[in-house]
Amino acid sequence: MAATIREEEVLSVHHWNDTLFSFTTTRDPAFRFENGHFTMIGLQVENKPLMRAYSMASANYEEQLEFFSIKVQDGALTSRLQHLKPGDKVLVNSKPTGTLLLHRLKPGKHLYLLATGTGLAPFMSIIKDPETYEQYEKVILTHGVRYKSELAYQEIIQGLHENEYFGEMVKGKLIYYPTVTREEFPIQGRLTDALESGSLTKLIELPEINLEDDRFMLCGSPSMLKDFCKILDARGFTETKRSDLGEYVIERAFVEK
Ligand SMILES: Cc1cc2nc3c(=O)[nH]c(=O)nc-3n(C[C@H](O)[C@H](O)[C@H](O)COP(=O)(O)OP(=O)(O)OC[C@H]3O[C@@H](n4cnc5c(N)ncnc54)[C@H](O)[C@@H]3O)c2cc1C
Repeated sequence: MAATIREEEVLSVHHWNDTLFSFTTTRDPAFRFENGHFTMIGLQVENKPLMRAYSMASANYEEQLEFFSIKVQDGALTSRLQHLKPGDKVLVNSKPTGTLLLHRLKPGKHLYLLATGTGLAPFMSIIKDPETYEQYEKVILTHGVRYKSELAYQEIIQGLHENEYFGEMVKGKLIYYPTVTREEFPIQGRLTDALESGSLTKLIELPEINLEDDRFMLCGSPSMLKDFCKILDARGFTETKRSDLGEYVIERAFVEK
């Protein structure tokens, strides 16, 4: 089916800090996506749609759509989007896509979700997917940020085990590993260093990463992805390419211009 652009209504807006916010919108019941997907969303500017790629932070069974956004002060879209209010209209493209999908990995025991910044967004839908816990014994959600205030969704992540529908599945399986680089915090430093040195696996009491058990989904800046791929490739992990399933998949959280 050809892609269409539909107007959805903003239902709520939450500002995490000066640089990050989230918002929910109505959802066309015909808009189907897989957890981990992204689509193009935007605003009507000077009678033209101004669209950018955004991951769905809401799970595919939820009634509303949720997005987690950066505020780029001179960004064409987000300089405007950050002023959204309930009742405003947002454009949503009907054609989702993306690589961060459960079925795009070889089966394994531990699923590492490695995110920096807004790269957390697709993983918010994946950790709300009961299928994730059916397929993996442990699901490790890492979120690397510079400042503590950027650790969005902490309460939701830490409260998932109380979810009335799938809380029991989450218990003992979901491990949250937030890390901060520029402020005092219980876990400090870069995620790449934590994975490479083994301090990540040591802290969460899992074996050193190995080809047999471990699978990875990566979403972050182009340089974060480059660094992680280098670490994983050096240990023999392969990236999924087309029908050739590997041990990891990647998605850029944004493109450098
Ligand atoms: C596959 C994909 C999925 C994406 N999902 C999201 C998402 O869920 N949430 C989100 O906020 N953005 C996401 N983005 C980025 C998004 O498409 C836009 O770039 C962003 O909304 C800024 O738009 P803009 O027009 O204001 O500025 P742009 O002109 O698009 O960007 C200006 C500059 O800002 C920086 N920048 C842009 N986006 C980010 C970001 N997310 N984090 C840090 N720096 C950034 C980059 O240096 C970029 O060159 C995604 C991008 C891709 C390719």
